Amino acid sequence: MNIKFRPEIKDLVPYKPGKPIEDVKREYGLTEVTKLASNENPLGYSPKAKEAIERCLEELHLYPDGNITDLKDAIAKRFGVKASQVLPSSGSDEMVDIISKTFINPGDEVILADVTFPRYIQTCTMMGGTPVVVPLKDFAHDLDGMKAKISEKTKLIWLCNPNNPTGTMFSEDALNSFLDSVPSHVVVIYDEAYREYVTRDDYPKDSTYLLDKYSNVIIMRTFSKAYGLAALRVGYTMASDEIINNLNKVRGPFNVNTIAQSAAIAALADDEFIKESYRVNAEGKEYLYKSFEEMGLWYAPSETNHIFFDAKKDCQELFTELQKRGMIIRPMYGTYSRVSIGTMEQNELFIKLLKEVLQ
Ligand SMILES: *Cc1c(COP(=O)(O)O)cnc(C)c1O
Repeated sequence: MNIKFRPEIKDLVPYKPGKPIEDVKREYGLTEVTKLASNENPLGYSPKAKEAIERCLEELHLYPDGNITDLKDAIAKRFGVKASQVLPSSGSDEMVDIISKTFINPGDEVILADVTFPRYIQTCTMMGGTPVVVPLKDFAHDLDGMKAKISEKTKLIWLCNPNNPTGTMFSEDALNSFLDSVPSHVVVIYDEAYREYVTRDDYPKDSTYLLDKYSNVIIMRTFSKAYGLAALRVGYTMASDEIINNLNKVRGPFNVNTIAQSAAIAALADDEFIKESYRVNAEGKEYLYKSFEEMGLWYAPSETNHIFFDAKKDCQELFTELQKRGMIIRPMYGTYSRVSIGTMEQNELFIKLLKEVLQ
């Protein structure tokens, strides 16, 4: 074959999403399948967003607002930042890609945790960057270990707080002292995809103070998790005007579609929905903790809508056995798996089937 693909692409593997419900139904001839594999909101999404979506249906022949003006304004107003400090994207996934394209030259070093969101390392490799992978410490980010890896070649540092898949977090104090030690030309991305679910008090509740304090920080948030709009692909980033202007050059011209823009604005205004999502999640978390403890299984205390646990059984085997019984979770590595917190009914079903498999 004489077609030459970029060498950076050679060893990349496509992203492996949570297994779809329909696939499992087909493979095992099941009619009822529950998916607790992709950290989706089991309550769905705000009814206000639904109304906004319906209003868009008459306009689908028109291009979306390429400047995403209304959504930027809504985010700026809601969180007390300037609209020029905000950039929505087609999910945070796309923003990870845009950030890597904006900053990484071949040979640049990118610091990240060894067990974290997989797109950080994939987009780094794609751009010819050199990932500098720092092992988690007690299943949480080792900020001192990451600090120790900063070199003249360091371009980006990825922080995921709380972390996916382990659900662990670091405190506002730890974040501040870390950022104080990072040279200002190194860009730190602070991904808080699960911020709405955090229960601990020492978590940075309102991270926008970082924008005033550090010119090298990028905050990433998403509407896919607590807001429940995963299918629409919409998230947003906040950073200095200078960073936003450069990210804006790299993104696609109409990267956030009309339905996503309108639904996100409506979702942002529905505090009740977020409150209820938080409540159901916190309740489900306590139930799952208790169940794991009764079964003698270890788990990492979670500040998210998922729990990382050790079933003391090969995760791929557990994955298959649960699927046969109509339950999809996420195998991680070794005997570790991740389960998303569902409705109480879904959580109870998961525990029942887990007990069956482990018996
Ligand atoms: C789910 C997730 C995202 C991506 O969300 P989008 O659906 O692309 O907005 C980003 N970061 C982390 C840590 C996630 O878990």
